[in-house]
Parts: sequence; structure tokens; C-alpha cells
Amino acid sequence: MRISLSVVRPFDPWQNPLCTCPFKYGLNPYTGCGHGCLYCYITSYIPDAFNPRPKEGLLEKVRKDLEKIPRGAVVALSNSSDPYTPPEAQLGLTRRVLQILLERGYRVVITTKSPLVLRDLDILRRHRGSVAVQLTVTTLREELAAALEPKAPRPAGRVEAARRLAEAGIPVAIRLDPIVPYLTDDEENIAEVVDAAAEAGAVQLVASTYKAKRDNFARLAAAFPDKAPLWRRLYFQEGKYFHGQWYAPESYRRKVLEFAAEAARKHGLQFTICREEFLQLNTPGAYCDSSHLLNGTRGKGD
Ligand code: SF4
Repeated sequence: MRISLSVVRPFDPWQNPLCTCPFKYGLNPYTGCGHGCLYCYITSYIPDAFNPRPKEGLLEKVRKDLEKIPRGAVVALSNSSDPYTPPEAQLGLTRRVLQILLERGYRVVITTKSPLVLRDLDILRRHRGSVAVQLTVTTLREELAAALEPKAPRPAGRVEAARRLAEAGIPVAIRLDPIVPYLTDDEENIAEVVDAAAEAGAVQLVASTYKAKRDNFARLAAAFPDKAPLWRRLYFQEGKYFHGQWYAPESYRRKVLEFAAEAARKHGLQFTICREEFLQLNTPGAYCDSSHLLNGTRGKGD
């Protein structure tokens, strides 16, 4: 029998067969996200997606859903919105959700671009072992980041947040996600991010390449018109359409991700790809959602 859940739902990456993480739940305290990243895919299924608004009756709905979900389950915050999207600074909904989840024995993986996560360090510290944090850093080049992720906090602040979390004993992964061809795919950029991840004390690097959808491609092409013809060729002529989005050619993606994997290994970082075919690049036992960094996680085949 299928149980009915309102806001804490089984995570479903559109049934993409390239998603190999163990089962988990997902929870978005906000509908939409204010960071406005050009490559973001949520605009393809959330109306007015760059205008974040709190979910009505969220805390009550979370409590009700959790009555139906086994303790110890992993909940991802969040997959369709940054849980520390700008209104969170005033509203504190993610903070309340974190408290509810962790105090009731659930395990949480946070994915964010915001140092605001440090505001909740008191909660994270109390629940060490049950929480891991992923900070997305696509480039350390401030100007490029400002163009690609116009309303997101600057990368230096994210790296500093990673450092402070790691110092507090919270496992941290850096997401080099996505790598955008001709903008962030050069070896120097990748090496800079991986170096910074290692230096900050992260334990894992997650990497993926940009996948084109109609709306995110339109934003990128408008912001970088000189790159648009190159992307058109790479994605729509040489690439492939798979599961609702365009992938760059396999040879291109393999080369870029192999370089990232090698850079991570040089620093002793665990490495995982996200929704790419090259599973042989993954550190055995590691998952791109970092759930393996939580106490008590077992893999799909365990
Ligand atoms: S932070 Fe994530 S959810 Fe928010 S706009 Fe950027 S890519 Fe989209």
C-alpha cells in the first residue's frame, strides 16, 4: 500500500537510471529558489521558480508525514530549492525543520550554496553523525560565479563555510556541479575548486557536467552569447537527448570527469559523479548524495 505523504516525499530523480544513490526522502521547505543560477533545472517544472516562497503549513505537514516514515531514514534538504535560500535568513523554516528531523532520529543531508548554514551549527553539532553538508562550488572565480549564480552567495564564503563545518566535525562534500563547458571545464578551474575543497577539510568531491534543458539553455545563451554556438554544437548536434535533457558527448564528459576524479584522488578526497555513466570513477562505497557519510547508511547492494 502506498502511504500518502505531503511534503517529506520519496526522492525521485525523475526515475533517471543514472541516479544510483540509496533510497531517501526529500523535503523542500520553500517552493522555488532565489539564487537564480543560470543552469538551474527547477524552472522547467516550478512556476515562478526564482521567487522562493515558504510552503504553507510546512511544520505541521512535516510532523504529520514523519508519523508515517521510519526513524533513521535519510532526508535530503533540498533538491528543488536551496534550503538556505534568501528568505530563510528571516523565516528560519529550514532551522525548525532541521530541529524536528534530527530530534526525532532522522538523518539529514543538506545541499546548499549559502554560508547561512553556519547559523545552524549548534543543531548540526548536537547531531554529529546524523548530518552531512554538501556545499556547491562551481568556480572560485568571483566574476564568473556572479554571472552564473547571480544571487547566490560568493564562492569564497561557501568554502569558508565548508571549513568551519569540517572544523566542527560535520562531514562536508564540495559539489563541483555542474561543470559548464567552455566556462568552468578548464583544468585550472577544476583544480582550483578541488584544491580549495581539500584545504577546507572536505572529505568528498561530487562532480557532474551541465545538462541542457530548454529554459536553462536559454538563460546561459543570453548571458554568454559567444558560447551559445559552441554549446549548440556540443549538446544538440554531438550530444544526446536522455531522460528529458541534453547531455554533452560521452567522450567530452568522460575526459572532464576523469580529470576531476584524478584531482580529488591526489588530495585523498572521495570522488563521486552525479547522474553520469562513469561509475568506475566513483570511490567504492561513496554516493553522490553523501548519505554514506552518515552513521548507519548501507548501500543498495548491502
Ligand atoms: S541554488 Fe540550486 S535550486 Fe537554487 S537556483 Fe541555484 S541551482 Fe537552482
